[in-house]
Amino acid sequence: MAEIWKGAPVAEALNARAIAQVEALGARGIHPTLAIIRVGERPDDLSYERGAMKRCEKLGVQVRRFLLPQQASQAQLLEAIAQVNGDPGIHGCLLPLPPQMDEEAARRALSPAKDVDGITDGSLAGVFTGSGEGYPPCTAQACIEILDHYGYSLQGKRAVVVGRSLVVGKPVAMLLLARHATVTICHTRTQDLPGICRGADLVIAAAGKPRMLTQAYFAPGQVVLDVGIHVLEDGSMCGDVDDEAAQQLAAAVTPVPGGVGTVTTSVLAAQVVAAAGKAVG
Ligand code: NAP
Repeated sequence: MAEIWKGAPVAEALNARAIAQVEALGARGIHPTLAIIRVGERPDDLSYERGAMKRCEKLGVQVRRFLLPQQASQAQLLEAIAQVNGDPGIHGCLLPLPPQMDEEAARRALSPAKDVDGITDGSLAGVFTGSGEGYPPCTAQACIEILDHYGYSLQGKRAVVVGRSLVVGKPVAMLLLARHATVTICHTRTQDLPGICRGADLVIAAAGKPRMLTQAYFAPGQVVLDVGIHVLEDGSMCGDVDDEAAQQLAAAVTPVPGGVGTVTTSVLAAQVVAAAGKAVG
C-alpha cells in the first residue's frame, strides 16, 4: 500500500517559515500585504478568497481587498490593477480573472513583481527561463513543495504531467525540468496515455476529469500527485486519480481532499512574503 503524502505537514512547514520571515520584515517596518481584486461574487472566487484571507491572517500577512461590482467596466478593473501596481505597501496581488472582462488585458496590466499567483506572461517567462521574474502559479509550486517536503529527489526521474494548462500542467512541467527530471507533458491527443503514465517514476494528474487515472495508469513504486479537485453530486470530493487503484500500486499518493489543494494558500502567502522581501532588497 502506498504512503499517503498529506498536504497539511507541508503547509505547516511553509507557514512556520513564513511566520519567521513576517516577523523579521516587521522588525524593519515592512508588513507583507496581499491585494485581492475581485469583480462580482462568483462562488469559486469567494471560496478561494476566503481560504487565502484565512491563511494570510494566521501568518500575519495583511490583506487589502478591492471589490468591484459585477457590472464594473474594464477601465475600472484596469484602474484597480494600476493602484495595486503603484502602491509600494502592496507586495502581491490575487486577481481571479473575471470571464466578462478582457482577461488578456488584465493579465498584461498586472506587474509580474506583484503577480504572486503566476498569471502574467512575466511570471510564466520566469518559470520557463528561471530568471526569477514573477512567481509560479501556486498550485504548480505546491506540487514541488510536496515533493521537497517528502524528500523526493527529481534528478533523473521520469515525470509525466497529465494536462497542459497554463495554470498547472505547463508550469509544473517546467519546475520539474528545472529540478532535472525528464518530463513528458500529456493532453487529450496523447496516444497510449496509460502506457506513458505506467512508464513514469512520478505522475502528476491535472486533467480536470474525476478519477480518470485508473489502475491501468499506474505501476509499482510510483509517486502520484493528484491536482484535480471535484465535488461530486453527493457532496464528497475526489481528484483526477482513482485513489484506491493508485494506492494499491504506487509508493506514495497525495489524497483529495487534503493533498495538493491544502498547500496552495500557504504557497500564496509564502510568495507574498517573498515579494515583500524582494521589494526591500
Ligand atoms: P484545464 O485548464 O481544464 O486543463 C486540463 C488539461 O488536461 C488540458 O490540457 C487537457 O488537454 C488535459 N486533459 C483533459 N482531459 C484529458 C484526457 N482525457 N486525457 C488527457 N489529457 C486530458 O484544467 P486546469 O485548470 O489545469 O486544472 C486541472 C485540475 O486541477 C482540475 O481538476 C482543477 O480543478 C484542479 N486544480 C486544482 C488546484 C488546487 O489547488 N489543487 C488549483 C487549480 C486547479 P487539452 O489541452 O488537449 O485539452
